[in-house]
Amino acid sequence: MNLILFGPPGVGKGTQGERIATEKGMSHLAMGDILRAAVREETDAGLKAKSFMDAGKLVPDAVVVAMIEDKIVAGEGASFLLDGFPRNVAQAEALAAMLAKHSLKIDRTIFMDAPEENLLKRLCGRLICRACGFGFHRQYSPPLKTGCCDRCNGELYQREDDREDVIANRLHVYQEQTKPLLDYYQHQEGFFKLDAGGEMDVVYAALKKLV
Ligand code: AMP
Repeated sequence: MNLILFGPPGVGKGTQGERIATEKGMSHLAMGDILRAAVREETDAGLKAKSFMDAGKLVPDAVVVAMIEDKIVAGEGASFLLDGFPRNVAQAEALAAMLAKHSLKIDRTIFMDAPEENLLKRLCGRLICRACGFGFHRQYSPPLKTGCCDRCNGELYQREDDREDVIANRLHVYQEQTKPLLDYYQHQEGFFKLDAGGEMDVVYAALKKLV
């Protein structure tokens, strides 16, 4: 089974996507994580992407489409979950063409949504482990020891683009460019809406039912 999770920043695509992918044995292809790794490794794509990411803007389509195709092809037919890709209609069209080329298809497209107030609270409190990438939240899922990852003891940090000014820009970009994906996908087979405004475990139970 191949899945797409899409929705606004902070809705929980990463957290829920990682959990369901692990449980179902799918590769979790999170575009933001793939890009951040490329920035860290200073690859050509990473160097191109950095300024867009720092400003909360979308990285050019050609860059992200090529990166995601590489990941899908490298998976050699393993099930995958796309998180944060596609993020606009042009990317959705490029994805459809790419999947057809590789004789693959998407079985479920799940639109996660939550009130903007929840998104802001989630994004502003988010902490990430520098070593293993695991996510925490200052209020909702704090680490046992301040500043340290429960899993690997790595250092926790706040993403540059989780600052309030950049968050506002990301939410604006979402409304302008990603939300139109709803029109693109909602009449296609396998489309579902998921209310992701509730607590983590409640949302996960609803997601599991859909999958
Ligand atoms: P995320 O971790 O999903 O919040 O993504 C962080 C940042 O990576 C976004 O604000 C964009 O700058 C960039 N990004 C992630 N996914 C995409 C995409 N599909 N297209 C363009 N840029 C993206």
